[in-house]
Amino acid sequence: MMNAMTDQTLVIALTKGRILDEVLPLLAQAGVMPTEDLNKSRKLIFDSNLPNVRLMVIRGSDVPTYVELGSADIGIAGKDMILEYGSRGFYEPLDLKIARCRLMTAAPVGATLDAPRLRVASKFVNVAKQYFSEQGRQVDIIKLNGALELAPIMGLSDCIVDIVDTGNTLRANGLEPREMIAEVSTRVIVNRASMKIKHALVQSLLTRLERAVG
Ligand code: AMP
Repeated sequence: MMNAMTDQTLVIALTKGRILDEVLPLLAQAGVMPTEDLNKSRKLIFDSNLPNVRLMVIRGSDVPTYVELGSADIGIAGKDMILEYGSRGFYEPLDLKIARCRLMTAAPVGATLDAPRLRVASKFVNVAKQYFSEQGRQVDIIKLNGALELAPIMGLSDCIVDIVDTGNTLRANGLEPREMIAEVSTRVIVNRASMKIKHALVQSLLTRLERAVG
């Protein structure tokens, strides 16, 4: 079994997709470069220019799992994924300040959300549950995996909890942003044991990334 904690190598779990394109230049500035083009390969684990650093490319929602359980020492993931994962089983030492957006509620333009029990569609079911319970509001959460904007239009839900950047996606679907839940940006997370056992390696990478962020 592969276990990142048993030796002095670092496994870094990267989020595939839009975050990757913004993270790779920062990693390069920090001195870590994959030895092949991550976007052109179907591989999931890659060597880097550093003999003791390997890179994994996985879904953002899986990054916290790999890091908490120690199969990756370091993870790079959106705060939205970290909030949805919900555990505090790893450190979150650095904000890379990229892929910024907001987690918000959104509803059809002008709609009054006064039903005694709101129906809320989201991929972020834990975030949504926690937010509405803090507000003391009764909700039924409907889990969807994509195209959330369709849910209110098709009468599946009263509102949604989703990522908003420019707001164009909402507007194009007759929705408007309503309540702000959290500011999102890309974070570096570190396995608790790796932080101790591989302290020098981890700390040196964090320092170089911090400088790259500026
Ligand atoms: P926008 O139309 O600019 O508000 O972008 C909204 C859509 O883009 C959302 O539904 C998300 O799926 C996606 N999106 C925008 N920014 C991010 C981000 N930083 N991380 C993940 N998804 C994003």
